[in-house]
Amino acid sequence: MQSKRPIPPYRIKMVEPIRIIDRKEREKKLIEAGYNPFKLHSEDVFIDLLTDSGTGAMSHFQWAALMKGDEAYAGSSSFFRLEKVVQAITGYLYVMPAHQGRGAEQVVIPALVKHPGMVFFSNIHFDTTRAHVELSGARAIDVVIPECFELDHYHPFKGNFDLVELEKQINAVKAENVAGIIMTITNNSAGGEPVSLENMKGVRKLAQAYHIPVIIDGARYAENAYFIKQREEAYRDCSIREIAKWQFDQGDIFLMSAKKDGLVNMGGLIAIKNDRHLFELCQTRIVPMEGFPTYGGLAGRDMEAMAVGLEEALDLDYLTYRIAECEYLGNRLLEAKIPIQTPVGGHAVFVDCGAMCPQIPYDQFPAQAVCNALYLEGGIRAVEIGSLLLGRDPDTSQNRQADREFMRLTIPRRTYTLEHLDYVADCLISVYQKRHELKGLAFEYESPILRHFTARFRVVT
Ligand SMILES: *Cc1c(COP(=O)(O)O)cnc(C)c1O
Repeated sequence: MQSKRPIPPYRIKMVEPIRIIDRKEREKKLIEAGYNPFKLHSEDVFIDLLTDSGTGAMSHFQWAALMKGDEAYAGSSSFFRLEKVVQAITGYLYVMPAHQGRGAEQVVIPALVKHPGMVFFSNIHFDTTRAHVELSGARAIDVVIPECFELDHYHPFKGNFDLVELEKQINAVKAENVAGIIMTITNNSAGGEPVSLENMKGVRKLAQAYHIPVIIDGARYAENAYFIKQREEAYRDCSIREIAKWQFDQGDIFLMSAKKDGLVNMGGLIAIKNDRHLFELCQTRIVPMEGFPTYGGLAGRDMEAMAVGLEEALDLDYLTYRIAECEYLGNRLLEAKIPIQTPVGGHAVFVDCGAMCPQIPYDQFPAQAVCNALYLEGGIRAVEIGSLLLGRDPDTSQNRQADREFMRLTIPRRTYTLEHLDYVADCLISVYQKRHELKGLAFEYESPILRHFTARFRVVT
């Protein structure tokens, strides 16, 4: 018997109470937070959809594995267990843990920059990835397909590279100036939209022709593999593990925030296919930055939990429910005519707040206004992915305008139930009905970089 509602392939054996504070208190807390949900205390949040990063629930197998952590500084048996799992999944020879995704980035990305003025191409650079590219003195250029930001236009793989544009750009900057091509799977900034295997193969072919290394930024590689199985005819009957392996065949280097598809609360990974020289360089770099190469900033027990989590994230039943719950929330919002990125991606629903609140100019941050309204409505915390996040142009110091003013409702893994998501939908629908009354925000305090984390605002009246 098939149920219309997605059914989780797990049951609950440990619970963490959550509670909602009343409306008056929420108003007070939001004012204290300077109208910036990042500054709310988590105990004042009822349902926290700020991020899917490190916020998921571990399985009892992972909790059991924690007890087996070998806390040796060097040569921990927990490392060798993790190494074996990563080698089997990726087919890559060299493995190093890192404390999280950006830890892996700070070790590897500068190691690829051989001279000043080099360029990285990506479908879309994730923000910390872009930061490490720029800190290393290189430039970050995005070459995603134009359909990516046509929100109600159906495309099965909106995360894809524009291959024609990529080749044009490689020729424009000259191949010897390209430090690498970064395949972000799934494409986080575009709404967790997947990249097809066909497209990844196309990137691989170009990269080989021009002798450019390919980096897979694969925080959500398992979710990407699931979408390939679902939407790419040729791979319908293949296992997630096979598809994952083919994805890795298209790259040379794998960087991962294990806080996503590693199903752990903290951790990251570096894997290198076979470039011994690069591995040795990274081994030298990782010691002062993250730690000795067999722990990379993690406790032995963290590596044990990650080794188990990486396997669990490839489970078809798990992925089926994971993707279905995101789609479920998306469908509830679509039924109420709320504009969202479609098809819904793998880890979040992206709401187009620019379309929802045309009365609020981009530099008064419509998505931040909707996030605040959603918190007041139901104690729900979401996050702005729009012009506030984008920051100012370093040359003109003007506010840059994002393509879209998104509010991201990010779904932690194995954490909330469909009842929680129904509640989120109900609250957002109620905000949507009052959308004409929402007002913009002006800075009371703005930090020079990464302003979205610490900014304080007042409501523009
Ligand atoms: C989260 C993420 C990162 C950075 O990882 P952290 O663990 O947050 O440091 C890099 N790339 C992508 C695509 C991500 O989603």
